[in-house]
Amino acid sequence: MIPAAFDPGLPDLPLRVGLAGLVLVSTVLLMEGWALRAHERVWHHALWFLHRSHHRPRTGPFEANDLLALVNAPPAVLLLSRGTWGNPGWVATLAWAVGAGISLYGTAYLVVHDGYVHGRLPLGFLDRSAWLRKVRAAHRVHHADEAAPFGLFMGPWELEARRAALRRRGQEA
Ligand SMILES: [Zn+2]
Ligand SMILES: [Zn+2]
Repeated sequence: MIPAAFDPGLPDLPLRVGLAGLVLVSTVLLMEGWALRAHERVWHHALWFLHRSHHRPRTGPFEANDLLALVNAPPAVLLLSRGTWGNPGWVATLAWAVGAGISLYGTAYLVVHDGYVHGRLPLGFLDRSAWLRKVRAAHRVHHADEAAPFGLFMGPWELEARRAALRRRGQEA
């Protein structure tokens, strides 16, 4: 089924597909920034009563923190529904692209963070990626210190920035 976002009757289909791709990629990148800030300012503060379960040993297959994974699902479902079954046009195209970007980021986060880094899925083969090994190492620092890096995919850069800041402070002292 072709979603309303790319209805064959719409003008400028190639332009529409290109722009949707651009919006989708931008959404994925913005989601990492949003996740970083939400993790730092909300999960480690107002929602700590839920997120704390993720920083303690898990006692069953699930943890209270898993509920936080559902935060971004409703807007993504609404946007994808609008882009798939709503009136064809630019609103449908943009809604589809943003909804798909949020879903893609959510899936990548689930696979890499919960599946790979925390070993909840049999994804050991991802060890072959040097970048993912760095992402895992940086996230383990977050768990050990309950401090930066708060981002997942940007974790290695965040960690490097934190260490550089510490070095600068050490030189000044
Ligand atoms: Zn974690
Ligand atoms: Zn945390």
